[in-house]
Amino acid sequence: MLRDQDRIFTNIYGLKDKSLKGAMSRGHWDGTKQLLEKGRDWIVNEVKASGLRGRGGAGFPTGLKWSFMPKESDGRPHYLVVNADESEPGTCKDRDILRHDPHTLIEGCVIASFAMGANHAFIYVRGEFMREREALQAAIDECYEYGLLGKNNKLGYDIDIIVHHGAGAYICGEETALLESLEGKKGQPRLKPPFPANMGLYGCPTTVNNVESIAVTPTILRRGAGWFSSFGRPNNVGTKLFMISGHVNRPCTVEESMGVTFREMIEKHAGGIRGGWDNLLAVIPGGASCPVVKAEDMMDVVLDFDGLREVKSSFGTGGMIVMDKSTDIIKAIWRIAAFFKHESCGQCTPCREGTGWMMRVMERMVKGNAQKREIDMLFQVTKQIEGHTICALGDAAAWPIQGLIRNFRPEIEARIDQYTRNAMAHGVVLEA
Ligand code: NAD
Ligand code: SF4
Repeated sequence: MLRDQDRIFTNIYGLKDKSLKGAMSRGHWDGTKQLLEKGRDWIVNEVKASGLRGRGGAGFPTGLKWSFMPKESDGRPHYLVVNADESEPGTCKDRDILRHDPHTLIEGCVIASFAMGANHAFIYVRGEFMREREALQAAIDECYEYGLLGKNNKLGYDIDIIVHHGAGAYICGEETALLESLEGKKGQPRLKPPFPANMGLYGCPTTVNNVESIAVTPTILRRGAGWFSSFGRPNNVGTKLFMISGHVNRPCTVEESMGVTFREMIEKHAGGIRGGWDNLLAVIPGGASCPVVKAEDMMDVVLDFDGLREVKSSFGTGGMIVMDKSTDIIKAIWRIAAFFKHESCGQCTPCREGTGWMMRVMERMVKGNAQKREIDMLFQVTKQIEGHTICALGDAAAWPIQGLIRNFRPEIEARIDQYTRNAMAHGVVLEA
């Protein structure tokens, strides 16, 4: 369990002074110039050595991603783009960083931009995050006034940070759709490769990173890669912001060491499951795109990338949606299917058509007005979508339904049986 002195986010609940002065008093912006003086290679190598993996959901190694940026300039400017379009249901950590601890992100932008030779960093903030954007902009303005940003600043590296307000589309959180949107176009994902490091914003070398990934780097560099990698287990290291929502006694966002178990996390930070552990039905462990996990598989699972893979789910953003036995699990997954159908950009056929098809079948399964053979058919459709689309939204729509069928097939069948019995009792003849 993480000790208070090991927390990177010292104001995640907004209880302390979030101004530059307050942030400095808690150790942020301490020795930033000296860190830059150690050079680009040192910074990239230290972030690599720390084992930090992207905190936006995919877990791609951050230092490795930074190392993809060209070392020499070919005349094109380099850009850092921070993905603050946090929209994954069950996920609300970047929001807390933006509104309560914005200086962690701004200092991180300076260091990451320097490491990648970028003089401009764009922060793309989710459309609905109005107060968050205001808090972030106020903190950036303070930094300009104090001489930490802009040309000829006190840190000796010219850097401008531009906050861009999204318009409320989930798909703009996909990195290439975000770049399209930032360029003023419709937010639709691009085919990858080329990856943004070769061909990103305005066709220039670009790194897109999640808010938390950038915000933790100054502290990692100050305390050392070895300090960060001492938390958790190999390949799954560091401290992490976890979000616990749903049927717990005390929903929260909390920074913890990677590798604690679900049970430890819920007991220590969320006040236990509503009605006790016997009342737990299932958990979606990393945001809505992760397959749902049954209570018995979840209780002692290790909360990290490898741990969640062992129970056929994924770590995602660390946003856990806890559901007790009062939940209609079929309806809950139908709701997620409806979400992805709504958010599909419509660019590729398996996703555009498939998300609507899955939602409509799920709708009937909620009522029980389906046939049992459709359960396998639905599963097969998810497999036709998974891996066959331009971006990960297709996979994200398929996985929750796969998890439901794998773990709750008897419940779906029982619902269909019940519907059939009711229909027969009322003399309704059902289609064979
Ligand atoms: P991805 O695995 O395709 O890519 C992850 C990152 O690594 C990207 O920046 C990509 O450019 C880079 N990358 C991957 N392979 C590379 C290579 N060979 N060369 C260079 N760079 C490479 O995943 P993704 O589509 O970016 O993200 C999907 C995840 O996003 C999902 O797992 C989901 O958990 C998460 N998500 C999060 C939110 C949120 O609100 N935080 C919203 C939706 C989805
Ligand atoms: Fe758009 Fe869906 Fe295709 Fe992604 S998978 S590009 S959201 S249609």
